[in-house]
Amino acid sequence: MQTTFTADQLANPHVAESEKILRKCVHCGFCLATCPTYVTLGNELDSPRGRIYLIKDMLENDRPADRQVVTHIDRCLSCLACMTTCPSGVHYMHLVDHARVHIEKTYRRPLADRAIRALLAAVLPHPSRFRAALKLAWLGRPFLPLFERVKALKPLASMLKLAPSGLPAVEDPPREAQAQGERRGRVALLAGCAQSVLDPGINQATRRLLTRFGIEVVAAPGEACCGALVHHMGKENAALAAARNNVDAWTAEMERGGLDAILITASGCGTTIKDYGFMLRLDPAYAEKAARVSALAKDVTEYLADLDLPAPSTASGLAVAYHSACSMQHGQKITRQPRKLLEKAGFAVKEPREGHLCCGSAGTYNILQPEIARRLRDRKVKNVEATGAEIVATGNIGCMTQIGSASRLPVVHTVELLDWAWGGPKPEALTAL
Ligand code: SF4
Ligand code: SF4
Repeated sequence: MQTTFTADQLANPHVAESEKILRKCVHCGFCLATCPTYVTLGNELDSPRGRIYLIKDMLENDRPADRQVVTHIDRCLSCLACMTTCPSGVHYMHLVDHARVHIEKTYRRPLADRAIRALLAAVLPHPSRFRAALKLAWLGRPFLPLFERVKALKPLASMLKLAPSGLPAVEDPPREAQAQGERRGRVALLAGCAQSVLDPGINQATRRLLTRFGIEVVAAPGEACCGALVHHMGKENAALAAARNNVDAWTAEMERGGLDAILITASGCGTTIKDYGFMLRLDPAYAEKAARVSALAKDVTEYLADLDLPAPSTASGLAVAYHSACSMQHGQKITRQPRKLLEKAGFAVKEPREGHLCCGSAGTYNILQPEIARRLRDRKVKNVEATGAEIVATGNIGCMTQIGSASRLPVVHTVELLDWAWGGPKPEALTAL
C-alpha cells in the first residue's frame, strides 16, 4: 500500500512503525474471510482491510479520531485471526494498538462509555477490587432488566451476567513451590489478576504438575497484572507502567535464583508479555530487560511440551473439545502443543469447526460489545457441542468464562486435565462425569 507520510510525521517512531506495517498491505482481502466481525456483520469497515484503511487515513492526515473510526476499531476483537491469514505479514496487532492509543488521546467518548472504561481499568487489574466488585454484583442484579433496555448501560448488564454466583477461596500463592526429586528447572508463574480471583485452581494445578516433574515454581515478589486489559483500551501509560513493574519483578527474580522461563496460564496475558520487548523498545532504561523477559515468557503448554514426560497415571479416555484461544493460536502461534499434551494424557481430542473464529470473550470485549460477543459465543458453543465431546478445554480464563456462560458442557483449563492425568485431583467442574 502506498503511503504519503511526511518526513516530519515519520520522525515520530510510532508513526514510522505504523507506516512500515501499512506499506506491507497489498489490499488482497484474504483476511476478510477469517475476521469474526466481518463474518458476523458483513461490512468492509468491520474487516481488517477496512480498519487498515481507516487507520491509514486518520494517521496520514494527522486527524483526531472520529466517531466512524472509533465505532469500527472498537468492534475489533484484537483476535489477530487476520495476522494468521495475511500472506504479506501485516502486523495488524501493532497497528491497531497504535490506533487505540491515538483514539484514547484524541477522542472524547460519551460519558457512559468513559465511565464504564474507567471502572474496568480501575477494577479488573486489581484482584482485591475485582473480588469485592464480584461480591457486590448481587446488589445490581435487580436492575438487570433496566440495564438491558438502556443502550449505554448494556455493558453493566453484561458484567452482571458474567459475574459468577459464588467465588472460590482466595489463594495466597507460595513464594516457592519446591521441585519433587531432582530439580530439572526453575520457573516464575504469573499469578494473574482476573484469573486468580475467578479460578485459582488453574495455577494450583500448574504448580502441582510442574513440581511433580521436578520444576521449582516461584512467585516473583511485586509481580502484578500484565497490563493487557488497559493496553487494549489504548491506555498507554497504564499499560507501560504494568509492563515496567513486571519487568522489574522478574529481572530481580532472575538475578536472585535464575529462571528458565516465565510461565503464563492465561494466553491473553502471554501475548502481551511476549510483546513487552516491543512495547518498551523506546525506553532506554527498560528496552533490554523487557526483551529478555519477553524471550523467557512461555505458555505453560509450550514449556510442558519440551519436557520429557512419563506415561500418565490416569488415562480417562474422555472426549475433549479443544478450543484454541485466539491469543494462543493467532497471538502466540501455539497450536500443536496443547493438543499433543492432551492426547499424551489419554484424552480423545476433538476439533470444533471454525476453530479459527473468536468466542467473543477478547478481554473486556464481551462487556463493551455485548451484542457481537453474544453472537460469536453462540456460534462457538454450537460448534464445540457438535463435536460430541464431554468436556471443553482451553488455555484462557476469558474463553472459559465466555463459553461456560452458554454451554451445557463443563469447561476446564487444559492444565487441569493434564494435572489430573498425571496424578492430581479430578477437576471440580468434572465431578458429575
Ligand atoms: S483482530 Fe480479529 S476482529 Fe480485528 S480485524 Fe483482525 S480478524 Fe478482525
Ligand atoms: S490479507 Fe494482509 S495484505 Fe491482504 S488485505 Fe488483509 S492485511 Fe492487507
